[in-house]
Amino acid sequence: MTTTLPAYDEVVARYEPVIGLETHVELGTNTKMFCGCPTDFGGEPNTRVCPVCLGLPGSLPVANKAAIEATIRIGLALNCSIAEWCRFARKNYFYPDMPKNFQISQYDEPLCVDGYLDVEVNGELVRIGIERVHLEEDTGKTLHVGGATGRIHGATESLVDYNRAGIPLVEIVTKPVPGTGALAPEVARAYVTELRDVIRSLGVSDVRMEEGSLRCDVNTSLHPAGTAEWGTRTETKNVNSLRSVERAVRSEMLRQAAVLDAGGRITQETRHFHEDTGETTSGRSKETATDYRYFPEPDLVPLAPDPTWVAELKAALPELPRLHRRRLQQEWGLSDQDMQSVLNAGAVELIEQTVAAGASPAAARKWWLGELSRRANETGVELSDIGATPHQVAELQGLVDAGKLNDKLARTVLEGVIAGEGTPTEIMSNRGLEVVSDTGALTAAVDEAIAANPDIAEKIRSGKVAAAGALVGAVMKTTRGQADAKTVRELILTRLGAEG
Ligand SMILES: [Zn+2]
Repeated sequence: MTTTLPAYDEVVARYEPVIGLETHVELGTNTKMFCGCPTDFGGEPNTRVCPVCLGLPGSLPVANKAAIEATIRIGLALNCSIAEWCRFARKNYFYPDMPKNFQISQYDEPLCVDGYLDVEVNGELVRIGIERVHLEEDTGKTLHVGGATGRIHGATESLVDYNRAGIPLVEIVTKPVPGTGALAPEVARAYVTELRDVIRSLGVSDVRMEEGSLRCDVNTSLHPAGTAEWGTRTETKNVNSLRSVERAVRSEMLRQAAVLDAGGRITQETRHFHEDTGETTSGRSKETATDYRYFPEPDLVPLAPDPTWVAELKAALPELPRLHRRRLQQEWGLSDQDMQSVLNAGAVELIEQTVAAGASPAAARKWWLGELSRRANETGVELSDIGATPHQVAELQGLVDAGKLNDKLARTVLEGVIAGEGTPTEIMSNRGLEVVSDTGALTAAVDEAIAANPDIAEKIRSGKVAAAGALVGAVMKTTRGQADAKTVRELILTRLGAEG
């Protein structure tokens, strides 16, 4: 069935969206949630497993304290209350990548509840309520081989890898977010971005969406503007990038509006997001709630975090990213608009580290937003993967400040840095790029230029100082751009008896 989608601004004039986000974050602990197996990404299939994470009979889980600590810190950073007593629960379901046929999770007693995260969208603060933050274990991975799309249909074999089974997973669920109107897709993206930055600042996960250590499901519903009752929501899965979070909400709003406009009703279901088309397709129907037969996990003792310990963790939280950015903006003396360009370029940390390595904020911003951003765009890589480090950029600027490189030479040295030729100082000396400000060497080049251009020299002698520019150009040419232009100009004027 093909339907023509309505225009987005018409949709938001007639309907109010309500969004909600469920985010899974793999914690960067050294070992798994309930056993001592290592957690590193990759590895030969089924090499990081043991009787506990394979669910063999008689094996018993032991909770990982580092994972509990990380979850409490995430909860505290999201302004949640931390449970003084709670339990893990068994979530029963049969699936090939679940070796035990149940998942140890948390159900009606989550570790952290009732918090919020403030995000900025178009300069406005939007408060996103946090329903709960709980701890569970990840499942394994199923790989379907032989089919065209990696899906089970058409596959000749299905393989299973349990390396990921049992890795600690934190689930962060927002409260429903009404009232964002046309901005709903941007709010969703801003929330996931901010959440990622918060978790990264805590150092508890590498939060890489492309490696699946941060995964996001997006709930969306629409109801007619001005009415109180919310519409039926769908849950979109497979949203694997920040951009996709925004696109998934927008595309689901358009699709639901078309269904409602035609007098249809929205089915409560999971939907799959497709990166290539930017559209969602129907997955599993959720009309009848799955009965997971939750019950308290009998093999684990309850969790009762000591309030003193929780207070210590709270006191030791790092500055949150939004406040950190505000402080940097003030320190760097940037307008909101300038700061936004820095954010859009993904250059905040790079500039911060370049300043920490000794460059001025203005110089650091110039390199990262100018030459380096331009090259990153040209080659289609992230700015942080460009091949120049903040330390190297600070060193380069140091050579400029010391008068050893001019702007043009510095750009050439930077090319060498990106090409992996070494440090800026090494490249400058290996390629012989240092500015020549040694008067003896320059005087010869100046005399040569004067001799070759007697007419211009005569003009300068008679007081037309502005004509010196042509001779400076000639000297720069013979010195391959390595002369210090200011010194050359002074030398020319002195040799010809004119005063600048
Ligand atoms: Zn194990």
